[in-house]
Amino acid sequence: MNQKVKHSKDEDDDFNLNTSSAEPLELDDQYTKPKSICWGRCHPMMFRKGNPAVVIGPHWPLFICAFLLFLLIGCLFIFLRVNDDPLIFYTTLFVGINQCVSYLIVSLINPGIANIERIDIEKNQQTNQKTWYCKVCKLIQLKETQHCLDCDICIQEYDHHCPWTGKCIGKGNIKQFYYFILSTVVFMIFNLVIILLKLKEQESKTNKQQ
Ligand SMILES: [Zn+2]
Ligand SMILES: [Zn+2]
Repeated sequence: MNQKVKHSKDEDDDFNLNTSSAEPLELDDQYTKPKSICWGRCHPMMFRKGNPAVVIGPHWPLFICAFLLFLLIGCLFIFLRVNDDPLIFYTTLFVGINQCVSYLIVSLINPGIANIERIDIEKNQQTNQKTWYCKVCKLIQLKETQHCLDCDICIQEYDHHCPWTGKCIGKGNIKQFYYFILSTVVFMIFNLVIILLKLKEQESKTNKQQ
């Protein structure tokens, strides 16, 4: 997991602005009006009601390489189990497909690009939620939102920038990311156990022949 050093919002004066204290007037109409949407270095596709169903990140070549690697390893394990017990074969098939599909989902869906849902300042002030201003995206953002320097865009509930998925992990794909980690662990443990069982089986066969 790429542990990018996050901005400390309390320390970075240029990066944030608390609307409840200084210069509240600067934040009025100018920033609450809808603007032409900026996507930073991300590539949104397949829009539905203004929201992209698919977002490709700036490190998409790494995403393609990693996907091909997962596909190759998955196919290799499936191929090795073709003549095995059907239960082992179909379980290998399932865990392989499950891992590849979960990786595709986490890499393709919108990670939570913040410029889609702009913050209503009045509502925000009523609920006393702290807001921050991003100079790059020119928008008011909630505290959990953070600007990713790789994607060059604000991400809601930013977790980290993951080069292997080619983009950020945030509000939109964090659950899918955890599911992908889980499916990878299951894939690795299952195939390791099968390999060890096969080795043991082969060893006992050799001992019997001797
Ligand atoms: Zn930003
Ligand atoms: Zn990012």
